[in-house]
Amino acid sequence: MRQENIRLPQDVIWLLQTLHTAGYSAYVVGGCVRDSLLGRQPGDWDICTSARPAQMRQLFADKQLILAGEKHGTVGVVLHGKPYEITTYRLDGAYRDHRHPDQVRFVQDLAADLARRDFTINAMAYAPGEGIIDLYGGRKDLAAGIIRCVGNPTARFAEDALRILRALRFAARLGFVLEPATAQAAAAARDTLQSVSAERIYGELDGLLTVPGAGKVLAQYGEILAGAVPEVAPCMGCTQPGRWHCYDVWQHTAAAVAALDLRGQDTRGARILCWATFLHDIAKPICRSVGPDGAAHFKGHNQRGAVLARIILRRLKAPSYLIEGVTGLVAIHDAPLPTGDGAILKCLNRYGAVFLRRLCALKYADLDAHARTPEVASRRQDVTDFETRMAVLAKTGCYTMRQLAVNGADLMEAGLPAGPAVGHTLHGLLGAVMEGRVPNERAALLEEMHRMMQQP
Ligand code: ATP
Ligand code: MG
Repeated sequence: MRQENIRLPQDVIWLLQTLHTAGYSAYVVGGCVRDSLLGRQPGDWDICTSARPAQMRQLFADKQLILAGEKHGTVGVVLHGKPYEITTYRLDGAYRDHRHPDQVRFVQDLAADLARRDFTINAMAYAPGEGIIDLYGGRKDLAAGIIRCVGNPTARFAEDALRILRALRFAARLGFVLEPATAQAAAAARDTLQSVSAERIYGELDGLLTVPGAGKVLAQYGEILAGAVPEVAPCMGCTQPGRWHCYDVWQHTAAAVAALDLRGQDTRGARILCWATFLHDIAKPICRSVGPDGAAHFKGHNQRGAVLARIILRRLKAPSYLIEGVTGLVAIHDAPLPTGDGAILKCLNRYGAVFLRRLCALKYADLDAHARTPEVASRRQDVTDFETRMAVLAKTGCYTMRQLAVNGADLMEAGLPAGPAVGHTLHGLLGAVMEGRVPNERAALLEEMHRMMQQP
């Protein structure tokens, strides 16, 4: 991991050289240095420089520029269709509201710019010929797997509360832990997350939940996360009956998120599943009751969970496809699956194959976070049986009106009067086909139509 040379893309080398030749200092900085040292491909290459925005504009005048961030010192230069952000060395001014710096001040040297950055692993810079500039032990923390604030963590979280969530997101993404003083300060300041905008919180939470390390971070740092989503707090310590469970609701949730298998899901489907698993039991604490046998029950937690999930996701300004996808899954996550072709086809008709595949993935994750008992294993087998048959029927079965061997015109041609009866009859025919009473063949369907017409 300790290679001192980072392979830079040609365009980045050109940008650094152009700045150097014009007499400015310039480095790649932050995430790209961190990721390069980890042997990961950086998502984007950010550059910091002593040049001011006006000087950059002049220097790159013949390139396409993005000037939206100019006030904060950032000029985007587009090379070969890809934008590169170049930002003047700056200090962030005072943060009155835990949100945005009241003003930024441009400075002349790199050290001050690195000091404003959130974590040691994000506060390194690199330039060819100079090597890595690491003033805060970023490489050491990277090697040890530690997220540590630059400077005093309490002060840094007070400047910008979002850093609390960023710490968790990086821990999840990299499989790291929070350095103890950083973790303590994050827990103490968790409620200040409430003053951060919904969009920023959603962005970090989404980044946290959609990486494989999410479950571990939830298990370890639930208390901190509760600053962003207070509804999770009562899940911690909410005990569940030992017949099925070996975890409280929160540890069960964390284990389910860790167990989630996203193979075969597209990006949206994966995101929906990550959030749905995170929120699937969110209503258990408010639905908990203890029966006469002394065992806990959670009657109605599916439906109430869907309501609560909607409230949370709306508050976070999540995209509507996510809100609909998640609430749909949470609302029936614990309901028994149908058996028998007729019932499975009706299920396909109502929910569609994509949704049902997601439901199965959520159910597997949920069950894999239960106690390892024969009853749980048998429930898991039920999911497998359903999924297997559902996949076959989704390919070969008839479960939508469009798949029927007749359409409305066929029915009218065969003597059915135009009007609402056409829709009703098609509906009835589809039901008969799904139940296996009538084969999906033209002659048989028309015969069934005539039989239906005879009935009052
Ligand atoms: P990613 O790969 O997720 O983009 P990144 O490290 O590039 O990771 P960005 O959010 O793109 O993260 O930020 C770029 C850099 O800016 C960070 O590496 C860090 O040095 C600094 N930074 C970003 N947000 C903050 C913040 N809220 N407080 C302090 N420094 C920050
Ligand atoms: Mg970045």
